[in-house]
Amino acid sequence: MLLHLPTSVSEVQQHIAEGALPIGGATLVWATFQRDGFPDRAMSLRNLPEANVLGPETLGSAVVLQRIDDRVPEVLRRAAGSIGTGAVRRAATVGGNIVGSTLRCLLPAALVLDARATVLDAAGVYETDLTELLAKRPLLLGVNWRTPLVSGYLKQEGDPGGPPPFVVATAVHAEPDGTKRLRLAVRDGYEFLTATTPYDTDVDTVLHTVENTDIGALPADARELVHGRIRDILAR
Ligand SMILES: Cc1cc2nc3c(=O)[nH]c(=O)nc-3n(C[C@H](O)[C@H](O)[C@H](O)COP(=O)(O)OP(=O)(O)OC[C@H]3O[C@@H](n4cnc5c(N)ncnc54)[C@H](O)[C@@H]3O)c2cc1C
Repeated sequence: MLLHLPTSVSEVQQHIAEGALPIGGATLVWATFQRDGFPDRAMSLRNLPEANVLGPETLGSAVVLQRIDDRVPEVLRRAAGSIGTGAVRRAATVGGNIVGSTLRCLLPAALVLDARATVLDAAGVYETDLTELLAKRPLLLGVNWRTPLVSGYLKQEGDPGGPPPFVVATAVHAEPDGTKRLRLAVRDGYEFLTATTPYDTDVDTVLHTVENTDIGALPADARELVHGRIRDILAR
């Protein structure tokens, strides 16, 4: 296997055209390679500056989970810190988690931050939303968002080998029109549900709005966890 380490977007484009498979830390693909054989060409973005940014409103796809610190909003930092073991977090990347894994613990955090993805395909570099990113799975260069006023992340304890633990992510943003919005994202099994509501200091009004979304169809114990997180973020 030839491993390319491009340092510019044009080199990345060239390697995509040559059919190179993107890899991050290979924490997921390694087992597949060993079982099915190695691809002729692979490409890591670890030397590409655009894929290594880490700041208050941006995160590159080649950043390893272990590096995600308090420069990013709490919701993203907690999500990254909850993933796998220290060994996994030292190798696994943002791109591998959001685009390439099924658990995607970073995704609820990215959803409540209303993050946009910068991607690269045959059309060149462009920005897209997370729904399109997951549907088309182009090469991810990074994600960016607006800093929230406050955010939070809860991941329930899970059993090794058991179903994915329930996750609730929350964030409140000040909107350009002067209002505030609360965004919620839930991982239930392998499904991701979202809700957006105007921020209101009256908890019951917010809970009522959320109950009328898909989240309202979750089992009672899951909804109780969601309600707890809403109360918590509104209090903050
Ligand atoms: C022991 C263990 C525990 C784990 N626990 C959790 C957990 O609690 N929560 C959770 O969310 N995940 C968990 N995971 C999965 C973990 O998130 C993934 O292993 C990791 O995120 C994959 O990242 P990687 O960089 O190693 O990806 P790789 O293995 O290198 O690649 C995985 C896939 O992503 C694609 N890919 C990589 N980078 C990009 C990119 N920039 N653009 C497009 N596609 C790309 C690759 O082509 C490949 O298909 C666990 C894994 C292990 C081994």
